[in-house]
Parts: sequence; C-alpha cells; structure tokens
Amino acid sequence: MAVPKKKTSKSRRDMRRSHDGLKLIQSVECQNCGALHLPHHICNSCGSYNKNQIVKRPKDTVDSKKD
Ligand SMILES: [Zn+2]
Repeated sequence: MAVPKKKTSKSRRDMRRSHDGLKLIQSVECQNCGALHLPHHICNSCGSYNKNQIVKRPKDTVDSKKD
C-alpha cells in the first residue's frame, strides 16, 4: 500500500479543502405559479415552461402513484 512520506500540514490540508464547500443552487421564480425551480427547466410544481403548459400536473401523478 502506498504510504505518504510526510505528514500533511494543516495549511496543505486546508488548501485542499478550500474547494469542498457546497454551492448554492441557482433558482428562479416560476412565471405561472411563483414556485422556485431551476433556470431553463420545467417547473416542478405546475409543469409549465415559459408560460406554456408542458406536463400535465406532475405533482398529482406522483401523489397518485404513492397511494
Ligand atoms: Zn410553476
């Protein structure tokens, strides 16, 4: 097994972890229902995109499958 030759210093360890932070998910308000969704994606709550109805009520279909 490969073993590190030197102990990683706190500085080196923290420099490595400088990229580990979580980034905020960018979201926009739906023009149809006002819920937050990913930009350039269909709205999860009403199924519309650019004020056009793309999917018929995706939430209702999911709920009916659970029951
Ligand atoms: Zn919506």
